[in-house]
Amino acid sequence: MLSRRDFLKLVVKGAVLGNFSQLITPPLAKAVAAGEVHKLPVVMIETGTCTGDSISLDNIWTPTFSDILTNILDWRYDWIMNQVQGQEAYGILQETYEKMPHDYILIVQGSMIQRDNGHYNHVGYENGKFITGIELVRRIGLKAKYVVAIGSCATYGGPVSGYPNPTQSTGVQNILPERRVINVSGCPAHPDWIMGTLLHLALYGEPELEKFGRPKLFYGETVHNRCPRRRFYDQGIFATAIGQKECLFRVGCKGPVTYSDCPIRRWNDRFNWPIGCNTPCIGCTEPGYPDLMSPFTSHFPDIPFPGGTKVNTDSIGLGVLGLTSVAITGHVVTSLYKGRIQKNLLKTSAKTNHRPALKKAQAFHKYWLKKTNKI
Ligand code: SF4
Repeated sequence: MLSRRDFLKLVVKGAVLGNFSQLITPPLAKAVAAGEVHKLPVVMIETGTCTGDSISLDNIWTPTFSDILTNILDWRYDWIMNQVQGQEAYGILQETYEKMPHDYILIVQGSMIQRDNGHYNHVGYENGKFITGIELVRRIGLKAKYVVAIGSCATYGGPVSGYPNPTQSTGVQNILPERRVINVSGCPAHPDWIMGTLLHLALYGEPELEKFGRPKLFYGETVHNRCPRRRFYDQGIFATAIGQKECLFRVGCKGPVTYSDCPIRRWNDRFNWPIGCNTPCIGCTEPGYPDLMSPFTSHFPDIPFPGGTKVNTDSIGLGVLGLTSVAITGHVVTSLYKGRIQKNLLKTSAKTNHRPALKKAQAFHKYWLKKTNKI
């Protein structure tokens, strides 16, 4: 069978070549046929969601997507892809958690809607009673082998929990504190991130996770670290409007505080990605998105540096993702001493008033930390 080391290599190779599932499917199908891999049953529950992650998953370009579903994972219930409906479909879900406890993967797509005991989100009907999303996710989640939250909403609340959050939405981890939830964040999550995580679970068990519960495999580095425009940032050469080819930091890019491998993996079969289209990264994989990252086109506020100089950097990130931000700040200081940033900042003076955005982000950040303390 494919060793874990080879698998990890394929994850990176697939990102660069854009054919992750094409590379991964033949050796895995062989291993399944030889009985070396147990086909893990999968059930997917959709709660407060736009179903964007299902659409993203459907966008695995290669025809081997169906091979993965039929040969490597036993995809049993997913109301978007079900070919049957009503009790016939729901019965498969019931059968899975009743007869296969601690053997299946529960995938949750969508936020956990808590208001009025979750009754704004019905996902089933049993014995004359509507079943809410939180009820079903808890019931199935407690018996699952692994619980995987996909997309921004299921992981950290996402747009559905955006201020003022009338549905009191939150991420799956908050309603399942007994379980470790594997978070595959993104708005939507990249199909490779979803499928790669599932394959890792099927073959090698839980992947190494970072502090917000995301697989390091895909979320181990910031967008900024691998960004092809980094050389512009290093020299303080910034775009003054969206659509320009320079570093997009001053028009709102959240790449310095956003963890994902978008720069090397890109989207739509490696076709392109936001920064490649000259628009800023909006930080959609991060906890607190979208409130913490809003407005998307405003850059992070200025912070004072020794000697009274103010330089534009990721001060919001200083609170959220300390180490990276310290590294970036160190980097900015180096550039500052070399005079590159002052020179170029003079050319691109900030016109946006970001104080209200900062206040909003800080308030949200405080709230979010309080809410997620138990994770
Ligand atoms: Fe790339 Fe954004 Fe970093 Fe600039 S700030 S180098 S555009 S990730």
